[in-house]
Amino acid sequence: MNPDAATGSIRIDRVTKKYGEATAVDALSLTIEPGEFISLLGPSGCGKTTTLRMIAGFEQPDAGDISISGRSVLGLPPYRRDVNTVFQAYALFPHMSVAENVAYGLQQRRTPKAEVRERVSEALELVQMRRFADRKPTQLSGGQQQRVALARALVNRPSVLLLDEPLGALDRQLREEMQLELKLLQARLGITFVFVTHDQGEALSMSDRIAIMRDGRIEQLADADTIYARPTSAYVAAFVGQQNFFRGTATEGGSAVESAHGLVRGIRSDRRAPIADGASVQAAVRPEFVRIEADASTSAPATGANRVQGTLLGVSHLGETMQYLVRLGDDQSLIARRPTPEAPEIAVGSPVTCSWTDASVQVFPSDDAA
Ligand code: ATP
Repeated sequence: MNPDAATGSIRIDRVTKKYGEATAVDALSLTIEPGEFISLLGPSGCGKTTTLRMIAGFEQPDAGDISISGRSVLGLPPYRRDVNTVFQAYALFPHMSVAENVAYGLQQRRTPKAEVRERVSEALELVQMRRFADRKPTQLSGGQQQRVALARALVNRPSVLLLDEPLGALDRQLREEMQLELKLLQARLGITFVFVTHDQGEALSMSDRIAIMRDGRIEQLADADTIYARPTSAYVAAFVGQQNFFRGTATEGGSAVESAHGLVRGIRSDRRAPIADGASVQAAVRPEFVRIEADASTSAPATGANRVQGTLLGVSHLGETMQYLVRLGDDQSLIARRPTPEAPEIAVGSPVTCSWTDASVQVFPSDDAA
């Protein structure tokens, strides 16, 4: 590969990392394009941070290869890789000013003074913190400290920025603002971002592609629309967004599920192997696709394909949407969500009918259970 064209690319090739008997990363392969914003998303312990630390050079793989910008970096220390890392704990030096914190890495490399000044000023400008250059970190808010940490990572103009839950310490509103800022900054700089998070909303809103990780491997790698609309396993379906699952037996060539609560009929998710009739499966329907009506208001039969009857247990106001919790028999509940302006008013305790379209259903093999 031409190294210039590859600047900012990352190639992880069958990388494994073990800690004693435990396999943190398991023969993981991933190719990241220059300038891409990619998130590693998954529950605690699935290997996100270990993967990031191996790209950064803080950990060495037991097997496999990692290339950055077209060259293998195995054995290279972090400072000789064309990457920088931003951590959740900003680790700013408390006794140094903002400018001194940002300058520190350049000074360690004996960068000429005039260049240090210019680059620090440029990096602080990028994160809109120039006017705070003389403050100490303790005189800054959490969001401002995170911006300084970002400036410090950008000051030596890396081709790749690695971010490990960088917004984890911020409150929700600030976090959402910073998500947008980070995304805009990344687009402007055109550098590759690898972003570790366990927050699905964060990954969905920022990334070009999301790698959903499970037990040290990538379960699905795709853009946000695909991950949300066409998860390839129940694990991904359950981890991203909310789902109602109906366990049952496949019929109609795997495109329908006979569950204890009725027949769920619908399209299949993207998957290679077809599901045989009689196999144990689960059908998944997202709450936003579930229509809910008070029983008295419908003339259609109460049950049938993609139609179940239950009792309204509770309604929660979530701001933009209303969420309904419905009990179906003794052993299952169902969640329906409607946009607040069109949410029906139904008394808690009333009988309700829930329905959804074929196209909103996905069917997964049961051994794939989340
Ligand atoms: P989190 O979201 O909690 O940070 P993660 O997905 O980033 O989780 P890792 O930190 O990569 O997960 O950890 C993957 C597995 O490796 C876990 O089971 C963890 O306990 C183990 N592990 C990570 N670092 C070490 C270490 N230094 N020594 C021993 N085990 C480790």
